[in-house]
Amino acid sequence: MAARRTIFITGAGIGGLTASLALANKGFRVVVLEKAERLEEVGAGLQLSPNASRILIELGLNDRLSRRAVMPEAISIMSVRAGGELLRVPLGKEASERAGAPYWVIHRADLQAALADAVDAHPDIDLRLGCHFEDFASHARGLTVVHRRGNERRQDVGLALIGADGVWSTVRNHLYPEAQPQFSGLIAWRGTLEARQLPREYTAPRVQLWMGPNAHLVAYPISAGRQINLVAVLPGTWNRPGWSEPGDEQELRNAFEAAGWTGTVRMLIGAVDSWRKWALFSMREDCGWYQGAVALLGDAVHGMLPFAAQGAGMAIEDAAVLAHVLSERPAESSQVVAALKRYERLRRSRVARVQRLAARQGRIYHLTGPMALARDLTIKALGPQRMLARQRWIYDWRL
Ligand SMILES: Cc1cc2nc3c(=O)[nH]c(=O)nc-3n(C[C@H](O)[C@H](O)[C@H](O)COP(=O)(O)OP(=O)(O)OC[C@H]3O[C@@H](n4cnc5c(N)ncnc54)[C@H](O)[C@@H]3O)c2cc1C
Repeated sequence: MAARRTIFITGAGIGGLTASLALANKGFRVVVLEKAERLEEVGAGLQLSPNASRILIELGLNDRLSRRAVMPEAISIMSVRAGGELLRVPLGKEASERAGAPYWVIHRADLQAALADAVDAHPDIDLRLGCHFEDFASHARGLTVVHRRGNERRQDVGLALIGADGVWSTVRNHLYPEAQPQFSGLIAWRGTLEARQLPREYTAPRVQLWMGPNAHLVAYPISAGRQINLVAVLPGTWNRPGWSEPGDEQELRNAFEAAGWTGTVRMLIGAVDSWRKWALFSMREDCGWYQGAVALLGDAVHGMLPFAAQGAGMAIEDAAVLAHVLSERPAESSQVVAALKRYERLRRSRVARVQRLAARQGRIYHLTGPMALARDLTIKALGPQRMLARQRWIYDWRL
């Protein structure tokens, strides 16, 4: 197909793969450049609320995903100070039916594999692994994209370039070198354990959020319920980029001993054999979204703290909006800039609101002393239905 219908995407993460499917379904030819030699099974659990699962289902992924995802019946909000559950926010079938799509929790590798299978099966998507994006040049016919595989450098011409290359984005560095991710002073630790290792009461299909002094723990089942995914978040100074640094389990155990956490939390943490950690970085809200025929998507433009569980969800929404705006206009380079301007207008304020919510929730989860007491009383007074209603602006979003 002609270069004038070709869109380049840098990055085959959740955002890049979803964007490739959404764009190919609108009639574009898509080339995805991914620097990794293979799509690794890195990461652990991701939460997909209805705003995101709806898009994935519309892309034809329901069968592939529902086999591996778990639909939690509720989110249990637990307080260490109160010694147990404050509130159970219903998420199950009824809430999914109301929202018109399920709330899923899933292993990142399962989501990536489902997207990659659909990409492989699509005749208009060319996924090039081991291929590093390096540079681009704009001209009247569109863009020339420069990429490298091993020692071989290549140039291709396309209509637009989408930087879906994560929080350490190379594309963003070309557009906005001054916009850099900020370290939050927090470190996330993730581990998984086999569900059969635990007593039944801990393996219910539920997201458990444990809030404690200066730390929190989230636990939920993944891999069709066979595994439990744990993420613990603590303050720290270690701030190297990356997703999979081995973590010292004793350091984590000590942190949860010292803070006076309940036996359940200690039992869950003690049952994990190996921990991986990643430093939590986020982008400022004022990062630009596009320049000319080059746009950013997902973590590249709005890497956020994970405390609203919307990092993957916002990347998936970006992908759907981007495909929509680009298909609304004739595929000509003069129209692409106007489409990307509209993309930014449709995305910027919603995503910034989610980024702020995530940062605020992190502060609330880690409160201490009288502030923690006030938090617990407020959550209890709100009750499950009002708590769920506060999430509707996120879950009920539609294109
Ligand atoms: C390996 C990995 C593990 C993760 N684990 C977790 C987890 O356990 N829990 C969680 O909540 N979130 C995790 N995340 C983050 C989560 O996937 C994202 O926040 C969210 O899905 C949005 O993704 P994205 O597509 O915008 O970016 P990402 O998922 O970061 O994907 C970016 C992709 O771009 C590729 N790339 C980068 N630079 C170049 C280049 N120059 N040329 C070509 N390709 C390039 C990267 O290799 C990567 O595949 C992980 C991300 C990665 C990459």
